[in-house]
Amino acid sequence: MMKNSKFPSLQYISFSMRHAAGYTGALIFLRLAQALMPAVQILTLAGLLDRAQEAFVARKFTDALYLSIFLFVGFILLDTVLNIISSYVRMKYEIKIGMEYDRSLLMKKSRLIYYLTEDQNTQELVSRLSEESAERMAKGLQNLLDLFEYGIRIAGVAVIVLTAHVGIGLAVMAIFAIMLPVAKKCGEEDYEAYTEADKQMRKAAYLQQVLGHRDYADERKTFAYTDKINEKWELQHDKGRKMSQAVTKKNFIHIKAASMLTVMLAVSAAALLLFPLRKGMMTVGGYVSIVTAIINLTKLMSWNLAYIIEDFTVCKEYIMDLLTFWQLPEIETDEKGKIMQSSREKIEKIVFQKVSFRYPGCENYVLKDMSFTLEKGNTYAIVGENGAGKTTLIKLLLGLYREYEGEIYINGREIRQIGESELFSYFSVAYQHFPRYEMSLRDNLVLGRADARGVSDEEIRKWVGLLGLTDCVKRLPAGLDTEIGRLEEAGQDLSGGEWQRVAVARALLVDGPIQIMDEPTAALDPIHESELFEKLISGETGDLHILITHRLGGIRNASEILVVQDGRIGECGTHEELLQKHGLYAEMFEKQKRWYV
Ligand code: ADP
Repeated sequence: MMKNSKFPSLQYISFSMRHAAGYTGALIFLRLAQALMPAVQILTLAGLLDRAQEAFVARKFTDALYLSIFLFVGFILLDTVLNIISSYVRMKYEIKIGMEYDRSLLMKKSRLIYYLTEDQNTQELVSRLSEESAERMAKGLQNLLDLFEYGIRIAGVAVIVLTAHVGIGLAVMAIFAIMLPVAKKCGEEDYEAYTEADKQMRKAAYLQQVLGHRDYADERKTFAYTDKINEKWELQHDKGRKMSQAVTKKNFIHIKAASMLTVMLAVSAAALLLFPLRKGMMTVGGYVSIVTAIINLTKLMSWNLAYIIEDFTVCKEYIMDLLTFWQLPEIETDEKGKIMQSSREKIEKIVFQKVSFRYPGCENYVLKDMSFTLEKGNTYAIVGENGAGKTTLIKLLLGLYREYEGEIYINGREIRQIGESELFSYFSVAYQHFPRYEMSLRDNLVLGRADARGVSDEEIRKWVGLLGLTDCVKRLPAGLDTEIGRLEEAGQDLSGGEWQRVAVARALLVDGPIQIMDEPTAALDPIHESELFEKLISGETGDLHILITHRLGGIRNASEILVVQDGRIGECGTHEELLQKHGLYAEMFEKQKRWYV
């Protein structure tokens, strides 16, 4: 875990070291060597010019002149070679960091505690971090090294100028001090605007998706809303674009003003240095090499340094985001993100004891003092009106939220004492909002299995048959190995009902001892629906079955029906018992019955 530090940008070095230690070390060393080059240039050039002048006066080539020519040529060669090696190492570093950093971001994302995946701020943070993540990590390190390099370059030249003329040396440093806060402010404004513009752009991107994606095609046509959404998109896009343009313009003006100052410094330095030259306090070679170095340096300051300092602030904001992300709570087990073989433990009992729960950051309790017991061998149906808390109850049982009051026991063990992977291994779950994986049908079916590659065709076909998908598999050109979904050619997509049966089969193939089905028949036609209910209730797999549904006709044979009402179990019993009670269940059942008679 990373600690927040006083100089967050230094974390670019530790992140880079962690993912590409060799290349990062080499880059730091090379930059240090490159940073010393201007000072070396002044010394070798001054020596060369002075020796050349002496040779000119004496009209003969001296050994000292040969030596200074040798040193100066050596300097140019070394500078060129350092540049080439530096670019090569940089390229290798970027490739390495591209893979490693993205992988560690992904790992962290997968380990985040569940409620954060539903939290808007976290989602925005993750989206900001993931965009061009590797490039931004590499840019952050380069930026830091640029700053080190330029700092040393400036200091090197400043020291040499200071020895020639104290006032001019100080002026060089003063300009650096003036530019620093201006560029820093620009950088901060830039990042804020970038964050805001990014938000606007993401909204625009969503609208663009509504305008183009196949998922929206039917309603887009029948409701003819293209013009309306287009208008919204244009407004949204314009808003984001204008925001970033305004900041870029402002920064350009700031930076140009600062660079004018540095050009003035170069001119005045050249003029001022004439005085020590005339007084014989410095040689002609010294004068020419120092003025050349100052001109090079001011060019660097006016064109590069301002942008580098501005980028520094932008990179700092990125690393601060990264540090915040890195400190987000993770799931607590040792086996993070691993699929475990389904548990072979027999499930005897699940007990909810006075469980109360509210979502993080919410005031109202969704579950209130909820108590009930589920026992082995039975099929339980959970029913209730929308928003009553049925799905929340399942999320707690799955351990997705652990901040509840009261206790939840599986076989006498409180689930907070059970590691996440072990807990998951007890369940086969089909979610109400199931995903459609754009992969082969086989992958769609075995995705939840730890031994996905080893699942036999025979086993798959058993479940495919049970869920009435055999004809569907026959229709597909490559059978189970057909790539399905919308990315594929037309005709290889499944119907809504087929997708749902695939999701149920995927859950059943996991073969966990506790089976949970959340609205497993919502997309099915009545024939397939009643067949599926029969199979789920007869419970061919697992020790204990939980069915959440609105379709009351399908659960008449459930062992027990729990009616969730306002966060509590309002009533429970068999279908007949509940009808006798004339409570909410009886009312809901009568209403649904009236559709059919
Ligand atoms: P049901 O499954 O019975 O329709 P849920 O368990 O999904 O009901 O929801 C119960 C209540 O909890 C609802 O009022 C819903 O708005 C609220 N809720 C559900 N999920 C969240 C969440 N992630 N954050 C805040 N409130 C939520």
